[in-house]
Amino acid sequence: MGMDVGSTTSKCLILKNGKEIVASALVPAGTGTTGPRRAMEEALERASLGREDLGAVVATGYGRGSFPGADWVVSELSCHALGAHALDGEARTVIDIGGQDAKALRLGPEGKLERFLMNDKCAAGTGRFLEVMARVLEKDVADLAEMDAQASGIVPISSTCTVFAESEVISQLAKGVDLRDLVKGIHRSVAVRTASLARRLGVEAPIAMTGGVARNAGAVRALERELGAPIRVSPLAQLAGALGAAVYGWRKIRS
Ligand code: ADP
Repeated sequence: MGMDVGSTTSKCLILKNGKEIVASALVPAGTGTTGPRRAMEEALERASLGREDLGAVVATGYGRGSFPGADWVVSELSCHALGAHALDGEARTVIDIGGQDAKALRLGPEGKLERFLMNDKCAAGTGRFLEVMARVLEKDVADLAEMDAQASGIVPISSTCTVFAESEVISQLAKGVDLRDLVKGIHRSVAVRTASLARRLGVEAPIAMTGGVARNAGAVRALERELGAPIRVSPLAQLAGALGAAVYGWRKIRS
């Protein structure tokens, strides 16, 4: 079992024979909440298994240290690299945007983590930025992709700081701009930050995206435009860390 205790979401995944995903669960409550325990219980129930049936439990993610009962606790970078490679064996550059950080990883042909860069100091360019903006717009983050798709123009956001950008969005709202164009500007702002991180790492195709923000097609499209290259997204992108943790556990018990 791989358990990714995130800042906003708890992800759990049960892997059989190192390959077959038997069950997974995603609870929108992260570290310090009941989310990790509920995600584990949900995944076990979906798989009709008990804790005693698991060969190993591996914890990763921002709150990995606080998860009780893990056999191994493994860094997010290692697990995201393993998980991204398991989801897409060809990916050479992986961009992971979660609730609290953004990472750019370079993988070798066998999925080995060769290089990485991370922004975990600033909310701009992370899922948190999108959550703050969605709240100002009285929307859910899950609504942003559809709004972006319907935009006919773009309202640029010039501030990079989340707090200043929030004020900017509020002043644009006061002017009565189209919300959809504003959402497009918000996505571009995240994409500009992320593209700069990826370029510093050195982008090599194929590029894959993981983490919760990969579920936002508007943010993915904005990043494709900034990088001038297509980005591959698995439907299981948000589970990449949990999958990588499970793969790690499988390798450990086999070795
Ligand atoms: P963490 O591991 O830090 O909890 P995740 O990788 O789970 O972070 O990503 C959380 C982010 O994913 C949120 O901040 C939000 O921006 C985005 N997100 C989560 N669910 C959705 C969704 N249904 N549609 C669009 N974006 C989403």
